[in-house]
Amino acid sequence: MQLLIIKFFGAMKKLFILLILSLHLNLLAGGKPYVILVSFDAFRWDYMDRGLTPNLSKFASEGVKSLSLESCFPSKTFPNHISIITGMYPENHGIIHNTIYNRFTNQTYKMSDSNQVRDPRWYLGEPFWETAERQGITTASYFWPGSELNLSYRRPTYFMPYDHFCPEDKKIDGIVNWLSLPDNERPHFITLYFHETDDDGHNFGPHSAETNKSILKLDSIAGLLLNRLSKLPIKDSINVVFLSDHGMTEISKERQINVGKILDGLNARLYDSGPVMMVSPSGSSVDSLYNRLKKNENKYKVYKREDIPEYFHFSDNPLIAEIVIVADMGWTLIQNNKKEYYSDSKGNHGYDNHHLDMHGFFIANGPAFRNNYRSGTLRNIDIYPMLCKIFDIFPRSNIDGKLERIEYILK
Ligand SMILES: [Zn+2]
Repeated sequence: MQLLIIKFFGAMKKLFILLILSLHLNLLAGGKPYVILVSFDAFRWDYMDRGLTPNLSKFASEGVKSLSLESCFPSKTFPNHISIITGMYPENHGIIHNTIYNRFTNQTYKMSDSNQVRDPRWYLGEPFWETAERQGITTASYFWPGSELNLSYRRPTYFMPYDHFCPEDKKIDGIVNWLSLPDNERPHFITLYFHETDDDGHNFGPHSAETNKSILKLDSIAGLLLNRLSKLPIKDSINVVFLSDHGMTEISKERQINVGKILDGLNARLYDSGPVMMVSPSGSSVDSLYNRLKKNENKYKVYKREDIPEYFHFSDNPLIAEIVIVADMGWTLIQNNKKEYYSDSKGNHGYDNHHLDMHGFFIANGPAFRNNYRSGTLRNIDIYPMLCKIFDIFPRSNIDGKLERIEYILK
């Protein structure tokens, strides 16, 4: 028995020495890595196939390129940026849509309302910057949904209040300035966000000349960023990931579904319009509303919250209304005949995230990533555990993402 105990402690001692050695080697090999996470809003999975992206293509050919990046349902901007940064489905991180009505507090979360967007009570997941900061890594954000919360410990050390009209080169200057700070103040994880392909995709459609122009523009921004990074002394430790939150598909005024008209004579509250609409009873019963919508089910699918198919991962949250309607690809749910935002749009997203048109892109390059490697479709919820792996820190245990589904793209 005594011998066993001695052997056990001997083994533990060896293990401990090995651990210290490996930590030491890690430091000798350049210390903590750097990751720049860049989002191009609504940059569809196939936009790099148009011959408009020489900088991104060169970058990807030397590193990792995935077939596509599957977004979460609904394939909208805020839910997916928060899924990327928390590793959770929207039903779990709480940002279930771009507009959320909380019927318990009577508050409405809207992207355009900075007070709501900064209110930490909407955000149930832990973003990567919070996980990282708690484990000794300084982080920064030149825009990302959820990066400007009113609670300092839930946001990056350095962050910028969102400004849609901020010049693109100013953002790049900001990143380079942060990376030029003294060692003890310098962030190791930085997010960056560009909106161009989303604006033009909505206004002119994914196949328009305008969208092609914004693809070109984002490629030159990527070129500028990579060029500036390549001149920094820490250039060999920097990993860069370019990705998007979702794709884009063509819509048309000829493909609209008037939900208000279908529910004529019944009393309901309709939330949002576009690819997804939520319906709450206000007088009429859930069954009467559901039955009416089910009877007229054409070019959309209607679900009671508890019956939403498991593969959407969109059911287990009290802010999801009693009834959810999901339009078929390219169709638009409207509330009534009034002129709505979508009536002049040529493109939209938010549909079933399994459709390829709703997929984004993912390319990465740097010391953590394999070289010249092509992967299949990745899921955006797996990026958070991947980041934890790159920085060798502990992820939260309540996430939906799985390291084993993405780890193979790392060296
Ligand atoms: Zn978006």
